[in-house]
Amino acid sequence: MSSLPALFISHGSPMLALENAPTSHFLRGLSAQFPRPAAIVIASAHWETPSPALTGAKQLSTIHDFHGFPAALYDLRYPAPGNPALASRIQGMFQSSGVESTLDPTRGLDHGAWNPLLLMYPQADIPVVALSVQPRRDAAWHYRIGQLLEPLRHENILVIGTGNLTHNLQEAFRGHHPSTPGWVSGFAGWVEGRVAEGDTESLLNWQQKAPHALQNHPSPEHFLPFFTALGAGGAPLNARHLHNATAMGVLAMDAYAFGA
Ligand code: ZN
Repeated sequence: MSSLPALFISHGSPMLALENAPTSHFLRGLSAQFPRPAAIVIASAHWETPSPALTGAKQLSTIHDFHGFPAALYDLRYPAPGNPALASRIQGMFQSSGVESTLDPTRGLDHGAWNPLLLMYPQADIPVVALSVQPRRDAAWHYRIGQLLEPLRHENILVIGTGNLTHNLQEAFRGHHPSTPGWVSGFAGWVEGRVAEGDTESLLNWQQKAPHALQNHPSPEHFLPFFTALGAGGAPLNARHLHNATAMGVLAMDAYAFGA
């Protein structure tokens, strides 16, 4: 069986699925970079729970968890099968390490998950298990969750964290950013540098160490999936910076592959 990377993907606006933006183009080509996975485990910034939750449904619904977008976006569906057996197995893997989790029998895929998956695997024929993030827990917690998922990568299962490298929506909607501001590129460059140096320790302490951390992430949930992917990539840190773009002036759309 092949080893797959763990991916961090910035999903940007829900319009990504309908746009011809650089990140849409990148995601359409991404699946050709590695073997076809047997299953996908995807941690999404748009599913927030106090403790880890996994989708347990056999068939996943498409959640249109956004407002005020064109009708065409609400017509999109991503009818991927679930994988209840894999979800139960992950729950067991968590439990053996003292991490309590729940299986949600009805939850489907939020746009943080289905939007990039629609571009990567448009046929929706690979079973998916979605995983929640814990916004009250820190980077080290999400890194640990990722470490527990790491063995799956060696069974041809693709682990993805989907969020945004930077995510100040208020600034994004304020508009008028003729070029990427320094507080955005400074943060993205800091992450790129720490990844290149294999400096996991600094990354885990990003809220203290990264420049403009709070300005780029007024709330942390869109950066937490980065650490799930980082943990699933294994140690020592081995990464490829796959993609670099800015959307809506201030949303860094970077993607990384960890571990393979
Ligand atoms: Zn989002």
